[in-house]
Amino acid sequence: MRYALSAQQFNHLTLSTVAPSFRVTVAKDYLNFAAAHFITMRGHKCEALHGHNYRVGVTVEGALDVECRWVMDFSVLKEILRPLVKSVDHRVLLPTRNPKLTLEPQDGRVHVAVFGEPRYVFPETDCVLLELENTTAELLAEHFGLQVKTALAEQGYADLTRLVIEVEESTGQSAFWEWR
Ligand SMILES: [Zn+2]
Repeated sequence: MRYALSAQQFNHLTLSTVAPSFRVTVAKDYLNFAAAHFITMRGHKCEALHGHNYRVGVTVEGALDVECRWVMDFSVLKEILRPLVKSVDHRVLLPTRNPKLTLEPQDGRVHVAVFGEPRYVFPETDCVLLELENTTAELLAEHFGLQVKTALAEQGYADLTRLVIEVEESTGQSAFWEWR
């Protein structure tokens, strides 16, 4: 004999065994930036200076707001991300914690040595010095992610269960930083 749950039993089962999960994502066209960088690689290798048209996306997960029935307002995420993206747009990204590089700001210029050999001199205003070991898409995602996390906490979004930042270096080629 076939056993069927009543509607009441089904609702109870669904609510008690499956926690609802909601997430929102923002990855707008204008959340992109063009920047130059180079990566030091294993051993004594270092890329040549080159550029990317990066795109940044953010995803947050959490419970629905009891009044608005959303995880959060999309505009909050956009307003947090826009200045972060703008801060690195049309700049040379330089990592200050890379032991293979020496960065010396001097008279409005940044002198960059690679493995002790002078290689580049950039106008200081064209550079962003980032406290990173390397300007990989992964660490750029973390760089943005930690700032987004702080901004969300400051704005009272303390109950979010997951935050993901995507940095797309070129079409179809992304790195993700995730906090739970
Ligand atoms: Zn690159």
